[in-house]
Amino acid sequence: MNVEVLVIGQGICGTFLSHYLLKEGKSVLVIDDNQGRSPSKIAAGIINPVTGRRLVTVWMADEILPFAWKAYQAIGNDLEINTISQKNIIDFFPNPFMREGFLQKIESGDKYVHPYPEQNHFNSYFNYEFGCGEIRPVYTAHLETLLPAWRSQLQTQNVLWEENFQIDQLIVTENGIHYKDVNAEKIIFCDGTASFENPYFKNLPFAPNKGEALVVHIPDLPDTHIYKKGMMIVPMVERDHFWIGASYVWDFDNTEPTEAFRESTVQVLNQWLKVPFNVVEHRSGLRPATLERRPFVGFHPLQKHIGILNGMGTKGCSLAPFFARQLTDNLIYQLPIAKDADLTRFAKILAR
Ligand SMILES: Cc1cc2nc3c(=O)[nH]c(=O)nc-3n(C[C@H](O)[C@H](O)[C@H](O)COP(=O)(O)OP(=O)(O)OC[C@H]3O[C@@H](n4cnc5c(N)ncnc54)[C@H](O)[C@@H]3O)c2cc1C
Repeated sequence: MNVEVLVIGQGICGTFLSHYLLKEGKSVLVIDDNQGRSPSKIAAGIINPVTGRRLVTVWMADEILPFAWKAYQAIGNDLEINTISQKNIIDFFPNPFMREGFLQKIESGDKYVHPYPEQNHFNSYFNYEFGCGEIRPVYTAHLETLLPAWRSQLQTQNVLWEENFQIDQLIVTENGIHYKDVNAEKIIFCDGTASFENPYFKNLPFAPNKGEALVVHIPDLPDTHIYKKGMMIVPMVERDHFWIGASYVWDFDNTEPTEAFRESTVQVLNQWLKVPFNVVEHRSGLRPATLERRPFVGFHPLQKHIGILNGMGTKGCSLAPFFARQLTDNLIYQLPIAKDADLTRFAKILAR
């Protein structure tokens, strides 16, 4: 079997990459083993222009957010599903200092941080003593709808193998790569944390980060916004279901859900929410984060047939469409990849 590009992994990176390659008329085979707890399957899907307590504008937000909105709509139109919604964040200030910081951001003219005029609007749902503000625009990507729909599409086109890719069976030749009975011009790894062990990429400065979240049934809470007060409460596709999280842990023994996270999150909800809730699921997984918080995009400097789209960290939902497009344009039209994401910045490390 001959294909132009073999894509390993169908998380959010492999989904957009295979989508763009097929749109460009490339022949593609995707191999994905359908792991149940991959970050793309447990993420909230938040696409947020500001980050952290200090509401810092995220890297390349002005380009990446509008791109993501259009990209999810376009793939959704192709698949005839809804893959993205605008859900602005209502930021409830946990103390007067946070309120002050938020107001200063508004005064500085920040384009994403806004006052919320109806301060009492959420009184029947939440306890909040220090008021609230609004962050907008914020989107939620519906990965729980998009990933299976794109998978079915690949299956219909007969271009998906559902199995574990075994790197020891990969043969690199002068003209491309060979894997089992597949000959391909390029192989591109979109396999998330599995790339940490990949002999071609294991020297990259990956820094896995553990995240936990709860899925909670809250029948009386409107799904019009994302609600934030330290934690985020994020509306999910399934009616009356909300994603609550997440933790960010750099130092961990295993990837399992912890009782400590569940207990502390339920405690926060008990104090914050005025309406009843019921925990239905506890999720946990590893983010493919990187030491310098920038993704890894491009082809291996010494192995021109081997590429990677990875290192999305906490921002896979916003970054993946943008960099899948850049990698596709780089492959087909030799267009440059954004300097901070381009794999060639690690040429020395990858030559070792
Ligand atoms: C709790 C939590 C919450 C998050 N919330 C958000 C959020 O709200 N917004 C946001 O932008 N990001 C969020 N993230 C981060 C986001 O989930 C990741 O950045 C993103 O999903 C990474 O996607 P990926 O495609 O690179 O990797 P993955 O999702 O890991 O996909 C890799 C795929 O490759 C497959 N695979 C791996 N190895 C093999 C192999 N050997 N053979 C075959 N297949 C293989 C896996 O089965 C998987 O399908 C969150 C992460 C966590 C853990």
